[in-house]
Amino acid sequence: MLAALAALLLVAVLAFPRLERAYLVATGDRDRATLDLAVQVLRGALNRTEALPSLLAERPILAELLADPDNSGLLPFVNEQLRQTALSLGVSDVYLIDRDGLTIAASSYRTDRSFVGQSFTYRPYFTEALAGGLGRFHALGTTSGERGYFFAAPVLDGTRIAGVIAVKITLDAFEATWAESGSTIIVQDSSNVIFLSDRAEWHFRTLGPMPEAALETIAVTRQYPVSRLRPLPARRMPLPGSDYEIVTIEDDETRQTMVMQTGLIATSGWRVSILSPTAPARAQALVALAIAGLVALFVVLLAATIWQRRLRLEDRLARQAGEQARLEARVRERTRDLDAANAQLRLEIEERTRAEAQLRKTQTDLIQAGKLAALGQMSAALSHEFNQPLAAVKAYAENAATFLDRGRIPEARENIGLISAMADRMAAISRHLRNFARRPQDKTGPVPLRAVISDALDLMRPRIEGAGARILYDPPATEVWATGGRVRLQQVIVNLIGNALDAMEDVPHPVVTLSLHVTGPRCRIEVEDHGPGLSDEALAQAFDPFFTTKPPGQGLGLGLSISYNIVRDFNGRLMAANRAGGGAVFTVELDVTDPPGEMAAQ
Ligand code: ADP
Repeated sequence: MLAALAALLLVAVLAFPRLERAYLVATGDRDRATLDLAVQVLRGALNRTEALPSLLAERPILAELLADPDNSGLLPFVNEQLRQTALSLGVSDVYLIDRDGLTIAASSYRTDRSFVGQSFTYRPYFTEALAGGLGRFHALGTTSGERGYFFAAPVLDGTRIAGVIAVKITLDAFEATWAESGSTIIVQDSSNVIFLSDRAEWHFRTLGPMPEAALETIAVTRQYPVSRLRPLPARRMPLPGSDYEIVTIEDDETRQTMVMQTGLIATSGWRVSILSPTAPARAQALVALAIAGLVALFVVLLAATIWQRRLRLEDRLARQAGEQARLEARVRERTRDLDAANAQLRLEIEERTRAEAQLRKTQTDLIQAGKLAALGQMSAALSHEFNQPLAAVKAYAENAATFLDRGRIPEARENIGLISAMADRMAAISRHLRNFARRPQDKTGPVPLRAVISDALDLMRPRIEGAGARILYDPPATEVWATGGRVRLQQVIVNLIGNALDAMEDVPHPVVTLSLHVTGPRCRIEVEDHGPGLSDEALAQAFDPFFTTKPPGQGLGLGLSISYNIVRDFNGRLMAANRAGGGAVFTVELDVTDPPGEMAAQ
């Protein structure tokens, strides 16, 4: 930005002189017409007057007067004639000079400043005309004090030159018209003296050197007052690219610089110049430069603004890109974290699944262990159960043999029938045991609860009878179907009945009350006893594995825990509570379902 401004300034400094010169040349060009007009007018006036003396010299009366200057009849007549002529020709003076340079008649004869009687021998126009040529001269009138141009021609008397007739025109009127133009017009003669100018203070000043000889001539011819011939303090130099000059006029107080151009009037040897001040051109150049500078400045500012906008935009885009990159990085990081968490979770799930499988296996093993434990518990009762019918079978067989020996066939048949019944009973017990010992399948489905309870009771019968206990059970009229596994559910019931019997070991008339109800979508199997009930500790921990209050060898503390898990697997609940009237009550709650046939039919 600063560099641009500096460059702008430099360009302005470099461009100003050229610009100024162009405006100066334009000023000169504008002045040219004024100058041409001034030259034309001057030249016209001189040319018009030039022929007059020769024409006037033709008048015979002039020669007559010259021959007889003291003719008092002729002189007034000539004087008046000259006055008339001057008036009609529009010239300042017309006058007749004799060979001695004395004016004998003049158009101004009636005025105070009459030329009559004046001697003009010193004037070149007189001497030139007397020599037979056309005299011309310009000078400050010694009589009139006016600047004038003099033309003179010889007056011939036959072939002899009798005198000179002169015509003078004044030039002051031209200055008045020049003063109306804005420029200054000067007329210099061949001696570099400013003879005419609309600036009166420049009259008779010189512009340029004046030869010594010229000064002498001026003094002799009394052309100008010598005391006024002072050079103007001017410096001149050419204006490049034109035929104009720059003139600087500098005195103590003022300094003026002007454009000058010059035209020539050859016949009089005059140089007409027009001068115009350079200040307006300089001001115009300055204004133009200022405008250009402002425009350039505006353009630079605009460019700078646009550039800055662009920078800002780029900056914003970069920042946005950065932000986006950061965001993406964070998303990636989060994703990575999530992936890690996912992987961890997957690992944990696998671990869980493995642990669950392990647990399931352990559970199955425990169920098996529990069953084996129950079997161990039951083995004593079972051996009694099997021994008793075996002894009976043996007795009946012996009896049957005796009856057969005695030929008492009907009695023998009766005994054999009893043997068969015993065998049936033993077969039933063994079938239950086999079912019980078998590893249950994990499959769940509709289970007939009435049948399950009946099977469990069958299985427990030896123990129940061994304990002298009574079972209070009023089975529902129709079968109740619930979701579960038949063998596992049977194991649960067996376990609960077994626990009830254990709890009532010291009770004189142990009674186990069983019930089966349906309430809405659920059904409940309740096993109640009159034992001591569950202690607080047992209430809290009864379903924990290996919690037992029984002496070692009698309880493993697994029955309820296994039962609990089995029932939960069926989407059911196993609950323990104490009865209001003493004793404990265990409840198995299961989902009621449709019998398998109906399901198949559906
Ligand atoms: P175990 O019978 O081998 O001890 P269980 O898990 O079947 O294992 O029973 C755990 C404990 O719960 C028993 O030791 C006993 O203290 C208590 N318990 C179970 N059933 C009853 C009940 N009907 N009355 C009182 N206590 C019971």
